[in-house]
Amino acid sequence: MTGKLYNQSLYYLDVLCNRIPGRSVGSEGNREATRFFEQELSGMGWLTSSAEFNAMDWRDGGADLMCNGVSFEVFTGPYSLPFSGSRRIVTVSDTAGLEKADLEDKIVLLYGEIAREQLMPKNFVFYNPEEHQRIIALLEKGKPAAIISATGRNSALAGGAYPFPLIEDGDFDIPSVYMTEEEGIRLLSHDGETVTLESVSERIPGKGYNITAGRGPEDADRIVITAHIDAKKGTPGAIDNATGVIVLLLLADLLRDYEGPRKIELVALNGEDYYAVPGQMNYIMANQGRFSEMILNINIDGAGYREGISAFSPFNLPEEIYTKTAGVITRYPGITEGAQWPQGDHSIFVQYGVPALAVSSKWFIDNMESQDITHTPKDNPEITDCRKVEEIAFALNDLIRLV
Ligand SMILES: [Zn+2]
Repeated sequence: MTGKLYNQSLYYLDVLCNRIPGRSVGSEGNREATRFFEQELSGMGWLTSSAEFNAMDWRDGGADLMCNGVSFEVFTGPYSLPFSGSRRIVTVSDTAGLEKADLEDKIVLLYGEIAREQLMPKNFVFYNPEEHQRIIALLEKGKPAAIISATGRNSALAGGAYPFPLIEDGDFDIPSVYMTEEEGIRLLSHDGETVTLESVSERIPGKGYNITAGRGPEDADRIVITAHIDAKKGTPGAIDNATGVIVLLLLADLLRDYEGPRKIELVALNGEDYYAVPGQMNYIMANQGRFSEMILNINIDGAGYREGISAFSPFNLPEEIYTKTAGVITRYPGITEGAQWPQGDHSIFVQYGVPALAVSSKWFIDNMESQDITHTPKDNPEITDCRKVEEIAFALNDLIRLV
């Protein structure tokens, strides 16, 4: 089963991951990707529209840290403000310590418990634990000159990156850098000494776009098929999420002749891997009061991994749609019903009461806590299998025509 769509997938994968230089939101590559998507879909006869929003791009100029002639490996925090100067270092390992410490105009090293998981961005509304908000508030109140975080591995919340930036937030204005746990242990022995930190970083104002392509009767119930088109900075984003976008492009081809009763929408959402999820927020605002028109969301993220089979995970599907989905799944040997997983754009639709189907690779669902691929340079076209991408598109085409 490797025909025209398979070859199209390979071409799209090459465009999205090799020819376009990076798809992080706010960058020129990201805008190139959304233009490409829109052109392809309008070329296939779909009615397209684009929604613009502000999104800051970021340039990483690298960072250096020195203490008494000893140097440490540090990385500039994504979307951080720059920093250059020498300050005394204070070390903090938990929230109680953060409360007590005198941080003003010092450089604070956060390590251990307090640096265990990435802090949710200030304006991220979907999931933001009180503990995170408290840490951010204490830092803003304490006014350190800069923050160094020493972080471990946490695949579930930071993708596969190690060390991961504790703070990745363009709305937070204290400069930050991050380092490995091992470097953190070395630095701990210099508590109270003066360190010199140089972190070169630039926030660049930019724009991003969501692209929607539709067909079918205007006032009909909507089936909304989504995939995020952005990628984490510094990664080709093959599995996360070029393959998802490719499934949308293949569906655009397969559904060209759709004359069924539903309004079909193919949406490239833009920002799932960006601190402020601007495309998702824009989409929610644009659909305020209209989520009840949606009878089904299908979101593709993490699909087409070369190992294992594809997983379709149902969320609150009404019995009729669930039965049809199960029927389609049994016809495709490379697809199984998957367990529910919490992150990804399908959760937005679930929150608004829309039944959803999350399409991914079973391997990623099973290894979410330990994988070290997504959000790293390892996420490149070599780890994909476009036969699986093609199979997913065929299966979804069947399902959409049944619903
Ligand atoms: Zn993703």
